[in-house]
Amino acid sequence: MAANTKRALVVEDEANISELLTLYLEKDGFDVATAADGLAGLKAVDEFNPAIILLDIMLPKLDGVSLLKRLREEGLTTPVIFLTAKGEQYDKVSGLDLGADDYVTKPFQPKELIARIHAVLRRTEGAVPGAERKIEYDKLIVNMDTYELIINGQKVDAPPKEMELLFHLAASPNRVFTRNQLLDEVWGFDYFGDSRTVDVHIKRLREKLENVSPKWAVKTVWGVGYKFETTG
Ligand code: CA
Repeated sequence: MAANTKRALVVEDEANISELLTLYLEKDGFDVATAADGLAGLKAVDEFNPAIILLDIMLPKLDGVSLLKRLREEGLTTPVIFLTAKGEQYDKVSGLDLGADDYVTKPFQPKELIARIHAVLRRTEGAVPGAERKIEYDKLIVNMDTYELIINGQKVDAPPKEMELLFHLAASPNRVFTRNQLLDEVWGFDYFGDSRTVDVHIKRLREKLENVSPKWAVKTVWGVGYKFETTG
């Protein structure tokens, strides 16, 4: 993996927070660009091509949620960490459905934020260089290099988190994962963990995967969690 030359984009309208983030990120070896509103952020994603985006939610011109939605609609899988204000009412599940990779609540601890950025980058880039990022079963291909889900030979649209969840389960067939394990290992946030997030994503995956093949299935293990079950 390339050494400390990663690019981080900070989209934040509060100048003092933006400056502080820039300071910490540069100290950690990142190349940093900033944008003070949503539209400038969108443009900066295009021009700066960041490895990670720190995205405020309440932004002038285009809010963070809409910005993320636009990026994901364009097929951009760049990891995004939402910066949420303390007390801000926000539906985490819907944000995660849009493909946010983590949340940090302001005011944040710089050390914690940097640790989370690294955790997100590790997860989204694949921890081991050269590790298999593609899984194939009967009538099912999950390709995390291209973020493509192929069911019955057809490409099926799925949000990045659904794909990561399926990949995680299917990479260890018949292993039972608890909801908390899946939150930690797929979402990677210990503090905002909500098992409903996992259930919602499993439900949506099942709608896509139902009756595709008799040789595998995403199963509920009652009282424990979920597994990708294979037979034969
Ligand atoms: Ca703001």
